[in-house]
Amino acid sequence: MVPTKIAQPGYDCSKCPAYCCSVYERVQVTPRDVNRLAKHFGLDYETAQARFTRTYKDERILRRKADPVLGQSCMFLNPVTRQCKIYQARPLVCREYPGAKKCGYYDLLQFERQQQNDPDVLPLIRITFRNGNK
Ligand code: SF4
Ligand code: SF4
Repeated sequence: MVPTKIAQPGYDCSKCPAYCCSVYERVQVTPRDVNRLAKHFGLDYETAQARFTRTYKDERILRRKADPVLGQSCMFLNPVTRQCKIYQARPLVCREYPGAKKCGYYDLLQFERQQQNDPDVLPLIRITFRNGNK
């Protein structure tokens, strides 16, 4: 039987500048994530870990780079297409994001484009931790 109505997601990543790959300074990686990256690039675990990750306090996180649109981003974000360059090998947290039927960043983008009546306007979003914790 063919369903009469297919649920549509509440956001469209292909129409977003990839806020989630840019605004978070820490994208956590587990040993399993490092293993996946190592396999993807044909590297050993230690080399992949050193090349693609760094530590922050007691966490292991993906390295970042300068980004022409949002200032900084994950090292694996394509700065032009705004797509993940390692989509098949991305970490678990990226696979699970946003963990809801809607994405707040996408909602904000649509809201502001309607408000400005400009399909190209782009809110520049930055997270600040007022309590000093990152
Ligand atoms: S911020 Fe939301 S809509 Fe944009 S790429 Fe990430 S999950 Fe997709
Ligand atoms: S690994 Fe890919 S999906 Fe995850 S933050 Fe980096 S660019 Fe985004």
